[in-house]
Amino acid sequence: MTDDRSNGVAGPGWADNRDKRINGLFPLAVERFLNRSVAEALPGVTTVTTVARSWAVHSMVIAHCAEAGMDEEARRQLLRRVEIVVAVASIAHMEDRSHFTWMPKPHGHDRVAHFLESGPISLDEVSTDGSGYSEAKWGFLTPYLGSETRFGFVSRDASEPGAEYDPDRVESNLKPLIALAQQDQISLDDVAVFPRLCICGAALCDDGEWLAEHLTGSNPHGRLAVASPQAAAMGLIVEAMRHAPITGANDVTDFIRFHPRIQESPLLEAARVQRWRGLALRQSAVKAWRQMWSQMSEWAANEGGFIEESRLADQLADRAPNQKVREFVDSLPPSTNSKGPLNAETDFSNEVEPALATLGAILLSGRRSSELHGEQLAGFAGATPDQLEELSPHWVARETDHWASQPMADFCRALVRTLLARSQRVALAKAQWNKLGEYVVPGRVLLREGLVEWRDREPAGDPPLRIAELMSIGHQLRMFEVDEAGLWYLAERGERLAGHLL
Ligand SMILES: [Zn+2]
Repeated sequence: MTDDRSNGVAGPGWADNRDKRINGLFPLAVERFLNRSVAEALPGVTTVTTVARSWAVHSMVIAHCAEAGMDEEARRQLLRRVEIVVAVASIAHMEDRSHFTWMPKPHGHDRVAHFLESGPISLDEVSTDGSGYSEAKWGFLTPYLGSETRFGFVSRDASEPGAEYDPDRVESNLKPLIALAQQDQISLDDVAVFPRLCICGAALCDDGEWLAEHLTGSNPHGRLAVASPQAAAMGLIVEAMRHAPITGANDVTDFIRFHPRIQESPLLEAARVQRWRGLALRQSAVKAWRQMWSQMSEWAANEGGFIEESRLADQLADRAPNQKVREFVDSLPPSTNSKGPLNAETDFSNEVEPALATLGAILLSGRRSSELHGEQLAGFAGATPDQLEELSPHWVARETDHWASQPMADFCRALVRTLLARSQRVALAKAQWNKLGEYVVPGRVLLREGLVEWRDREPAGDPPLRIAELMSIGHQLRMFEVDEAGLWYLAERGERLAGHLL
């Protein structure tokens, strides 16, 4: 007997092929608390504010336009032209032996360099909206503007100089930018006589010192030392360089997490500093979730991208020790002593294979939620602990209690299912119709009736803390230097300006 139900069925014609899957970012949405907290802890220093001298250049343009009585549109045009001249001057200076090769590229570098290939460039053409050096209406101003107003470099509405603007020091080397920007054309030869207009001039010139004073809170009119968020973060970097070997941002972050000095020094009791410790520890937890997700994507990829949900869950369960959940958590290395947090995550990862190390780091985040207090706990999990937020440290602690007397293997299977289900909710929450009428779903994972389809491996980068960005700014301002062995240290300007911090 034939099965009548199959008669006339030509395939899954009911499937809606307007569904378009793309590789979304943040598939577990586990970064939200961290990102929000980092933005509060270090405002104005982001992954797109890469060039320290921009603060001075923008402030000078706004001050010049106010003095000349220029309207907003004229101000915008001049700002764009000046940014192009800075790029041209920097490109010219890159060929010179006195240029610091470790400097970031000037804003608009690639496009301006391309325009320069055919000789002198027309400033009208290269500053044109849309097709010029920058797509953004205000060029590269916007990401810097918040901190430019907060520091008092420009007025609240960005139309006049602010109270902290210092024309003598900012303009002493940068002033020629204005006249150069008002030319019709600019060439590499035009700027060759102004090597100090390169972005690396911030390391040597007065405008760099002026900015460094504000970042460290040591400007004459400035507020109390660690009162500003930037000064607190700068103070932590300075303190790390004084008391630990620093080869990069990860070493500073480890210093913030674990160095006894954070709790020994009375000056470090400042709420902002203590909050940083909690934040840095939370970053480890977020990183662990990302690593777990990346690991799961690898297991799926090993099966050709299709795997049964139960089989994927077994991959983690099979790696779990034959212990109850509480026994396992209690067997993890100590994560605190009387001097503060200990690096239990690394101690454990040195003993076991990666997936188990990641699992340990996740469970340690739950343990830490009851070990940290006050501002450290606030930095770690929020002033009002995010008890109900899935995957948060408090959630991990609650799950650990719930599963305490159950086998680790069962807990692992449940954890894998929780992550898969969460990824589907996150993808659907971000899904939307595009202009072509396609339903765009950002997510590499599709879960249907016990089967997992996983397109592409998931990356597991470090969630940003902005410490690397602030170190780069300090380096450009010559507060810090890096020796031949790659060790960071306080330069003379750093010693002088940051001396009061901690
Ligand atoms: Zn240079």
